[in-house]
Amino acid sequence: MTDSKTLFQTAQEIIPGGVNSPVRACQSVQTDPLFVSRGQGSHLWVEDGQEFIDYVMSWGPLLLGHNHPVVNEAIHAAVDRGTSYGAPCKDEINLAKAIVDVVPGVEMIRMVNSGTEATMSALRLARGYTGRNKIVKFHGGYHGHADAFLASAGSGVATQSIPGTPGVPQAVVKDTLLAHYNDLDGVKELFAQHGHDIAAVFVEPVAGNMGLVLPHKDFLQGLRDLTTAYGAVLVFDEVISGFRVSLGGAQGHFGITPDLTCLGKIIGGGLPVGAYGGKREIMSHIAPCGDVYQAGTLSGNPLAMAAGLATINVLATQDYEQLAARTKTFCQELVSIMRAKQVPVQLNRIASIFTLFFTPDPVTDFASAQQSDQSLFTKYYQQMRQQGIYLAPSGFECSFVSFAHSDEDLTRTLEAADKVTF
Ligand code: PMP
Repeated sequence: MTDSKTLFQTAQEIIPGGVNSPVRACQSVQTDPLFVSRGQGSHLWVEDGQEFIDYVMSWGPLLLGHNHPVVNEAIHAAVDRGTSYGAPCKDEINLAKAIVDVVPGVEMIRMVNSGTEATMSALRLARGYTGRNKIVKFHGGYHGHADAFLASAGSGVATQSIPGTPGVPQAVVKDTLLAHYNDLDGVKELFAQHGHDIAAVFVEPVAGNMGLVLPHKDFLQGLRDLTTAYGAVLVFDEVISGFRVSLGGAQGHFGITPDLTCLGKIIGGGLPVGAYGGKREIMSHIAPCGDVYQAGTLSGNPLAMAAGLATINVLATQDYEQLAARTKTFCQELVSIMRAKQVPVQLNRIASIFTLFFTPDPVTDFASAQQSDQSLFTKYYQQMRQQGIYLAPSGFECSFVSFAHSDEDLTRTLEAADKVTF
């Protein structure tokens, strides 16, 4: 048996940081990653042999749990017919239809291979459609790693966005305007100044990348009204919230319909998929129907389509409300346990996603999320992991409960939380 420590050492020699996506390296929680060998239901096993209750669930896709039999069977059946055609196949239509049927804002949809590709393509489409260049995004909002989205505020002046990483030219983010999540007035100001140059507002209708932050009651409606008034495209990035908050995503839950929607994660059932869809009038501008170019060798891949379709078909039979109620009770108990230890916590939750923030004050945007105490989170993370509970290794991520999590899993998790010392 090779242990994770040895594997990590080997990996670091040939893979930057030893990982293929940065947060996995567990740097912010001052530990090393575990190398996973197998997942089943709500559990995963690591190369060292230890078993964990998983709350990462591949960062959201596995709402049905690891290795779900129906999804697994669909993938096996598909693989026997070949792994890629580079030509249309029936399951592309079937998955598109399964999404169009339940996501209110999606009349037409184009498949891609990741959430990053979905948002990047939606951005180009919004710009091509409106003939405008500027976009609005929110501090702490993550829309994949395309250059234009990797901007943070410079000196508090939105128009002077600076790139959030080397390698992104200033010129690429100069059109990215920043506002604070839940601050509609700030967005109004941006529109008052630049309204007729703004192609799109990109927003996670339920923010999942500063930890979980919920939209205030009128925030999304306000964005809907503003973008409509100025002829800008409202883009909901539902890569996390799609098929998670409800079958119809956050837009179905809140009853607010965007012009374009980005999807990923769950619609691939654990295989690499993204998609962007929306109003027929806008989507008709994509090549070869229209002149906005976007393409992909593996887009609409038959294995990914089969996995996504099977996942959505099973999800349509699941009781989302019951899972939400179970998650709510679990979260309430988790908060009681932490408060009994005199630890300041706030818990944000919707449906089966939540974040426990170590702060006494409500978390409503990136700034308030950043007030949370990362040293307390690190203690919590490390001790939970020692007790077989696998959480996201960052205080700014969501925990994901799946339909596969049993009451026993949840009880064991609470028992572990109760043993954590700070
Ligand atoms: N948008 C959101 C809201 C996301 O959470 C993510 C990834 N977590 C992405 C886009 C990018 O998706 P991917 O990692 O599949 O490129």
